[in-house]
Amino acid sequence: MVSTDTLVAQLEEITRNMWWCWHPEIWQIFEAIDVELWRETNQNAVAFLDHVDKALLADRLQSGALASRVTQASRRLKEYLAASGPQANMLAGPLHQAPVAYFCAEFGLHESLPIYSGGLGVLAGDHLKAASDLAVPLVGVGLFYAEGYFQQGIDENGQQREYYGRTEVENLSIRKLHDANDEPLTIHVEVANRRIAMHIWQAEVGRSNLFLLDCDIPQNPDEDRQLTTQLYGGDQRTRIRQEVLLGVGGVIALDRLGIHPGVYHLNEGHSAFATLELCARLMEEEEIDFDEACTLVSKRTVFTTHTPVPAGHDRFAPEMIDEALDHLRHRLDLDLRSFHGLGRINLDNPDEPFCMTVLAMKMSDYRNGVSHLHGRVSRRMWNDLWPFRRQSEVPIDHITNGVHVSSFLANEMRTLYERYLGADWTLEKEMPEAWSGLAAVDPGELWETHQVLKAKLLDFVERRVATQDAPRGDKAGQITPGSGLKQDVLTIGFARRFATYKRADLIMSDLERFKALVSDEERPLQIIYAGKAHPADRPGQALIRRIVERTTDPEFCGRVVFLADYDMNVARHLVQGVDVWLNNPRRPQEACGTSGQKVVLNGALNCSILDGWYAEAFDGLNGFAIGRGREFADPGRQDQQDAADLYKVLEKEVIPLYYDVDADGLPHGWIERMKWAILSMGWRYNAQRMLLDYLERAYLPAVGATVAS
Ligand SMILES: *Cc1c(COP(=O)(O)O)cnc(C)c1O
Repeated sequence: MVSTDTLVAQLEEITRNMWWCWHPEIWQIFEAIDVELWRETNQNAVAFLDHVDKALLADRLQSGALASRVTQASRRLKEYLAASGPQANMLAGPLHQAPVAYFCAEFGLHESLPIYSGGLGVLAGDHLKAASDLAVPLVGVGLFYAEGYFQQGIDENGQQREYYGRTEVENLSIRKLHDANDEPLTIHVEVANRRIAMHIWQAEVGRSNLFLLDCDIPQNPDEDRQLTTQLYGGDQRTRIRQEVLLGVGGVIALDRLGIHPGVYHLNEGHSAFATLELCARLMEEEEIDFDEACTLVSKRTVFTTHTPVPAGHDRFAPEMIDEALDHLRHRLDLDLRSFHGLGRINLDNPDEPFCMTVLAMKMSDYRNGVSHLHGRVSRRMWNDLWPFRRQSEVPIDHITNGVHVSSFLANEMRTLYERYLGADWTLEKEMPEAWSGLAAVDPGELWETHQVLKAKLLDFVERRVATQDAPRGDKAGQITPGSGLKQDVLTIGFARRFATYKRADLIMSDLERFKALVSDEERPLQIIYAGKAHPADRPGQALIRRIVERTTDPEFCGRVVFLADYDMNVARHLVQGVDVWLNNPRRPQEACGTSGQKVVLNGALNCSILDGWYAEAFDGLNGFAIGRGREFADPGRQDQQDAADLYKVLEKEVIPLYYDVDADGLPHGWIERMKWAILSMGWRYNAQRMLLDYLERAYLPAVGATVAS
């Protein structure tokens, strides 16, 4: 019998590595100890262990079953860290001496570390986790935002309210790095004629490391301490300084840590100043000129662009660039024209702002979009950078995003997978054969598992609605307490950032028709919304208001719910429990989109515009399509057509198929589709496949190696 102290020590050790963030079997241990506290701490294992009643903890750990789960988890983590990993580890060859440095402005690893705002961050988190699983040498580089991204409340008028709270660092699986004298390791970054000191946080993400730079330290004047407080907060001046701190600071930090990357991966343009710092260093060390340095740096630089939406590309006025980067420009020995030209398509156009995407494109030899369609759109969008090339020859590749399976696959569903595929199936997730055993899944079993997950979601919604800050305006007592959602009603989920091009209210464009759908006597539907709008995005906030209004409208009430404060926890519940995942962006503005891939793993069906990843994944039977991917120059026209197609597919395909129940009580046609969705898409749209693609197409070529086939 293992002593309680040992078990507690094992738990503490487990929670020091963020590995626990993608192991639901560990969350279940905490749930079994004190489920209320687990929820109160926002599923934060470190905070849980800090706050849990010690007598209760000891008592629960007396149970043999729980004790052995703790010991087993502890052993699994040790084995995981000790193993050299699967085949990819061998493929990575030269990267073992010189790893990939993966730069990103946000990382979404878990809801307890709120330094992400949406898809970009979650993707970066998934990339790190997949690199860890595959033992591909990769370190993440980002900023530590003490207040992170805002928490969302909704007031009685449906207006979004933004709250910032300081993250309690002592309750996170991260630690500040110290030097030999036990002083915090400090680097200095020149920005806007000041020398900003930064500390470095380290998060262990399985076998990978994530380094987060932080300038909120006493050495800096107050004004500078604020620079890294909030993700995507502040004005343009804050933004450019953050980007210098991330890019330039990241290079300095890696050097200070003795890490010498073979490849620099700029995940989105925010970090592109890193390439200039690298050039400056090469020029100083090798006594070469800027052009020679550029050639060397771009060979090792990989750049991924993430959006065709113009607002998603940072652009700075030349004066802003001069103010922030004068020091670096001098080190690069460049005149203003050449320096500004690095971020311009037309060097001599003084009105053209400095674009981070242009800089990144110019400073990298490998560039990619994040889906087949987005690759094409990006080649068109950036054709002017290569004016003498045909569009199809613009050197921008594509690697379609994927999601980290263990982070989003429900535990119940994983148990089912293991029953049909064996416990080892996760090792080769990117192989279709690894998934093929699911063809034999018993329809009743799949449906039953889905119902369990759906019940969990509805339960979660009930709890959230009961505690959401602003009480819903109770119009003459017509509103029953709770959400009113029902288990046997077709349930649609819609959750993402509330950017206007994503058109959250498209399904409401004809309110009468929408009402007819939700209130149908025999075949009703209900819809759960969640999502934040950027604090400066008024139109996005208006969309939220429009939807929240419906949630209190007696005509819709009980069928439309808005969950405040979308985060990874809300996302997990939604993608695991809904029947249908709705996505209706204005094509082709969704570069990839990944939430629909999470849904696939859990057996729900996508109903989506043919945009992003779904444009290449949809085969006619593995989900539903809204329209056929037509694009109109006039957005009004586009919205009209897409709304018509949305109603059509719901009325003619989705609803009839869902409610077509056989004598045995099962909707067999629907379940067939669920199975086919998993089988046809699961192997491809996961982060393991994505990482192997990067390895083969980008990382290895950057260090002059290839995958031996
Ligand atoms: C997966 C995820 C996203 C990205 O999904 P999209 O389909 O790109 O909107 C955004 N936010 C959270 C919390 C997620 O988990």
